[in-house]
Amino acid sequence: MIAGPSADASAGNVLVVDDDEDTRRLVVRWLARSRLSSVEADSGGAALEILRRDPSKIDLVVLDVMMPGLGGFDVMKAMQADPSLKVIPVIFLTAHADDEAAIVTSASLGAIDHLTKPFSGPILVAKVLRGIQQRVVQRELERKLADAEKRARIDLLTQLGNRQLFYERLRDESAFARRHRTPFCLAMLDIDHFKDVNDTLGHEAGDMALKHFAKLVSATIRQGDAAFRYGGEEFVVLLRSSDVSAGLAAMERLRAALQLLPVKFRDGSSRSITFSSGLAVADESNDFMTDGLLSRADEALYRAKEGGRNRDEVANGR
Ligand code: GH3
Ligand code: MG
Ligand code: MG
Repeated sequence: MIAGPSADASAGNVLVVDDDEDTRRLVVRWLARSRLSSVEADSGGAALEILRRDPSKIDLVVLDVMMPGLGGFDVMKAMQADPSLKVIPVIFLTAHADDEAAIVTSASLGAIDHLTKPFSGPILVAKVLRGIQQRVVQRELERKLADAEKRARIDLLTQLGNRQLFYERLRDESAFARRHRTPFCLAMLDIDHFKDVNDTLGHEAGDMALKHFAKLVSATIRQGDAAFRYGGEEFVVLLRSSDVSAGLAAMERLRAALQLLPVKFRDGSSRSITFSSGLAVADESNDFMTDGLLSRADEALYRAKEGGRNRDEVANGR
């Protein structure tokens, strides 16, 4: 393989694969005229090596069909089998203008286009530029999709993970606990008399109280722990490598922070809020399983409310 010169402010980076050096040089020269940089590979094996080393570096592949050893179609098949390579557009260079079978194969393998030798420079450049543009649009869509998927798991008001993210994280937490043979604690928290905040100060004030609460939960948990808005004024916290006493200590830290920092409302008034919690632990005794963990924490929370609020209760039994 021979690395080509890379132009400044390149419009894209093209992997040019051909066993024939003259063809490669010709392609590279045409691409360079349109500010396209290239990397050359003199065989199918070398091409795959370059692609696998860093797929993000190659925006498009111009691929010769007829090569000794690994041919163009073999390279394409290997690319299709690799999720990070199958997204890279390929333009085939077929040997004969009338090679219908090769053109059919190239299209059915998913090539975006083909050129026949001897090729026209301007047509090559036009097709490469269009292919790269499509890739740019596709990358942007992929980025937006990943972004949207992430946002779908975040609660807009508090910026905490939502219930969906909680369930995903709970699964991961259980796996982590089992792998490291370390317990974890699930705490279900519910703000006390929250309806009263809404009723006396208004819904907007209620929202501010929720944000404030979320901020203090996030601030008082440790790295590796995670807090979620389960719904309404209910929150769940996953405390990594924590037994019951570590869980209770975390609740006390939050309680102290809430006492120290009341919610400040727009009208200048402020109010302290309290919460009740129910704790359940996954450990050796239940094989770090998550089954029933949430409902046990919920049952404990119910007892905390019944017992007068602003307190913590630990789940019974396993
Ligand atoms: P308890 O101490 O028993 O938990 O009483 P509570 O008043 O906190 O609980 P209750 O379940 O009776 O009321 C919860 C209230 O939370 C009712 C609902 O309107 C309010 N709420 C839920 N989500 C939001 C929200 O996003 N913003 C605001 N402002 N209020 C919300
Ligand atoms: Mg409540
Ligand atoms: Mg509630």
